[in-house]
Amino acid sequence: MKNPGVVIDQEYLKHQPGDGHPERPERIQVLLQLTQALDAQKYILLPPKSATRAEIEFCHGADYVSLLESTSKENQYALDGDTITCRDSFGVGLLAVGGFLRLLDAIAAGENPNGFALVRPPGHHALRNRAMGFCMFNTIAIGAEYLKRTYGAKRILIMDWDVHHGNGTQDAFYEDPSVLYVSTHQFPYYPGSGAMDEVGAGAGEGYTVNIPLPAGCADAEYLRVFNDLVVPLAAKFAPEWILVSAGFDPHRRDPLGGMGVTEEGFAAMAKMLLEVADQCSDRRIAFLLEGGYDLAALRNSVAAVLNALRDRESISVQLNESAGERLQPLIRRIQQVHEKYR
Ligand SMILES: [Zn+2]
Repeated sequence: MKNPGVVIDQEYLKHQPGDGHPERPERIQVLLQLTQALDAQKYILLPPKSATRAEIEFCHGADYVSLLESTSKENQYALDGDTITCRDSFGVGLLAVGGFLRLLDAIAAGENPNGFALVRPPGHHALRNRAMGFCMFNTIAIGAEYLKRTYGAKRILIMDWDVHHGNGTQDAFYEDPSVLYVSTHQFPYYPGSGAMDEVGAGAGEGYTVNIPLPAGCADAEYLRVFNDLVVPLAAKFAPEWILVSAGFDPHRRDPLGGMGVTEEGFAAMAKMLLEVADQCSDRRIAFLLEGGYDLAALRNSVAAVLNALRDRESISVQLNESAGERLQPLIRRIQQVHEKYR
């Protein structure tokens, strides 16, 4: 069996959104320590490359990219209230996108069955012409477009388990039936979108699946939702590729999220997606770091998912009936919203 690919680089430390900002360089620092301790026999470290401007413009307007490029001349520039750049941010953003594309290339070439791009800043809130929520470029959306354009992919699943709704990713593919966007997120919460009746439009109607969850959901609730909604919807779609917006802010220790997921929960969620990838996607699945703001929780959760990529047999998925009961009305309503499309 070939080894998972892991993208990480010191350069990702250089994006500095200001003192006290939760999306801080230390997030990558702890992951550099983690990956330096990985067994080199078991994982393949992939050096990132910078995305080209043409690749960025798959999902962003040229004027917007030029605006971001111009921030390289400013010590600090506020793109919105919480999305702040420094002189290095534009370059780091290009390297974040390029790092993910590097991983996709490696998986497409069969060098790695799967992998994890440990990059920053995150991307899933970034809109075509607007930065928001710590995000400049929508890395996962650009990755999906890249797969379509470079490898002719026709069915791509994007699973977004970050605690926040990935409004930018939803927006990018809202009318596109080739990308099934599935999001679990705390609701109502930032950024405000992600209600269950947001299902896509036009040819893309039915290809956006929002699973808005009440605060306080923990492993049992997430695994029930994955078992009852995510896995069956994903399997029916039969994706050629699975891309995962892996945010670790649903962790119980996270200062921004209000959920109760543990390392074991993330590993079990990863295992369930890996099994869908085995069945549908010729094992092709790529994880991308989004949020996650408690350093120990982030480090341990990434370690748990990296372990799942390599050895999922040791991970148990235990479904809890009482958690199923609590969420059953919500799960049933979402099933009803989507059953007419499939
Ligand atoms: Zn988040």
